[in-house]
Amino acid sequence: MNQHGRFGPTRPITLKILRYKPGFIDPPRYDTFQVQADPLMTVLDALEEIKATADSTLLYRHSCHHASCGTCGMKVNGREQLACVARLVDEGTDEVVVEPLGSAPLVADLVVDMTPFALHMAPSGMALVRDSEFMPEAERPAGVERYTRYEDCIECNICLSACPVANTNPGFIGPAGLAAAYRALVTGERPAAEVFAYVDHDDGVWRCHSAMECSAVCPSDVQPGHKIMALRRELVAYKVKRFFKRG
Ligand code: SF4
Repeated sequence: MNQHGRFGPTRPITLKILRYKPGFIDPPRYDTFQVQADPLMTVLDALEEIKATADSTLLYRHSCHHASCGTCGMKVNGREQLACVARLVDEGTDEVVVEPLGSAPLVADLVVDMTPFALHMAPSGMALVRDSEFMPEAERPAGVERYTRYEDCIECNICLSACPVANTNPGFIGPAGLAAAYRALVTGERPAAEVFAYVDHDDGVWRCHSAMECSAVCPSDVQPGHKIMALRRELVAYKVKRFFKRG
């Protein structure tokens, strides 16, 4: 049994972690830490070990530890992943770079502000967290009237971070919000005219360049890129129908 209480050989892996604390570590820098990784050690395990033994000021978000809460999304060697299921040895490198998600304001270290993501999700008519997870005392952002969950989407923000369009266009609704709008359409959660009004503009469904990075990185198999393409097809059909009705 190794020092983590599990079986398997360990090997040293260096974590190069982006650090940022407004007013203290500013501009951002990279700090390096070493852990002894066994085959099961995840990036989140490593961060917890570093926080407990090397630097208690390290900040990151986490909760469930089993890929269902969506809180520990971050970039691991440049690729968006959930830290709780990303195994260090799977990276295949002796040095693993850990950075916060993109397309979101950086708060500190590996923590980003999820507000822009939530505000892009909310108007779709679906989304945000289950009633059971809603804290009545929490103040809802302006424009968010209720909280429900959009099926498999764990609201991790990973798709928005991986999306090349969202990284350069902060106004873009983004993969999760557009996928949620598609779901609102096909379930009848919202009238078609409302859904299409929400997505039929330059920062909506037409902004997507079909890079499909969102579908490639989504840890919950929502396939947001494919939902955007389906939403486009529905919108075109809706417009064609309306055109001929007018004629
Ligand atoms: S669509 Fe996938 S990647 Fe995007 S927020 Fe939902 S679960 Fe995360």
